[in-house]
Amino acid sequence: MTLVLDSLTKRFGPVVALDGISFAVERGQIFGFLGANGAGKTTTMRIILDILRPDSGTATWDGTPATDVPRRTWGYLPEERGLYPRLEVLEQLVFFASLYAIPRREAAARARDWLTRFRIPEYERRRAEELSKGNQQKVQLIAAILHEPDVLIMDEPFVGLDPVNVSLLKEAFGEMRKRGTTLIFSTHQMEMVEELCEAVAIIDRGRLVLGGPIRDVKRASGRRVVTLGVEGDAGLPWLADLEGVTVVKPGQDHTELDVRGRDPQDILRAAMERGERVTEFRIADPSIEQVFIEHVGRAPSEDHHLAEVPR
Ligand code: ATP
Repeated sequence: MTLVLDSLTKRFGPVVALDGISFAVERGQIFGFLGANGAGKTTTMRIILDILRPDSGTATWDGTPATDVPRRTWGYLPEERGLYPRLEVLEQLVFFASLYAIPRREAAARARDWLTRFRIPEYERRRAEELSKGNQQKVQLIAAILHEPDVLIMDEPFVGLDPVNVSLLKEAFGEMRKRGTTLIFSTHQMEMVEELCEAVAIIDRGRLVLGGPIRDVKRASGRRVVTLGVEGDAGLPWLADLEGVTVVKPGQDHTELDVRGRDPQDILRAAMERGERVTEFRIADPSIEQVFIEHVGRAPSEDHHLAEVPR
């Protein structure tokens, strides 16, 4: 089963939120949805969930239009967090599960299991408002998964979590993935994408900039990161003569190079020809952050707090 978005467009008055977005998410994948503020991530998620209708284009799950997909297919952690402040945690979770016709006993058992996994079992009788923000966020995530959705869509799930909870959430991702859940999340945190995602869509101003398996996305730019180390403090002036090679980080022990449109092996060859004694030579893909900056023109977090401008 695949989630397919085809040529989605959406306007809000003068604002073009989505300008022909197309990409696909394979079942069981952990999929990262990347874009700066206002790129259109939340709008796309809302269309998938049929909370919002596109002006044109389609979203389908296994060929069924989003408008006809049963609600229980989806779990959603929205951008705006919110629980019933006065309701006790367990009651709250049982209530959310009841919306999907899950019997009370079953819901309570699942809820307790997840509360334990998230290391907050002692809070089941506490009112939501008594919990810290991070703990409330975990409860809200549990609310989104108690009905065991096929696809879990999360808007910035890592924001506001301390490092311990970030790692608990990552563990939970692993658990859900084992159960076959498709996980889609938006983020500005590129290290999460590197670590967790199998595929991504990078969007900017309502358009898809790059998408697909991480490795393909990284390679699409034709760019590799080469680390070259030689004996002695060489300075390596000859590197400047090689077309498509830019020194990113010069260093005593090794130099980091950006190589485009040519075989990285050329550098090793050139070093040998010049009689350098090579101590280190490594070829790597660029980071997702580098790919993002290259294609979007700025870092994913750079305009995080700026007001949005209509375009
Ligand atoms: P963020 O990272 O800030 O959550 P995003 O990528 O989720 O951003 P969206 O929330 O999808 O971006 O917004 C895309 C554009 O559409 C923005 O310019 C936003 O101001 C605009 N927009 C979204 N929803 C509405 C709405 N209900 N009414 C008017 N404009 C909207």
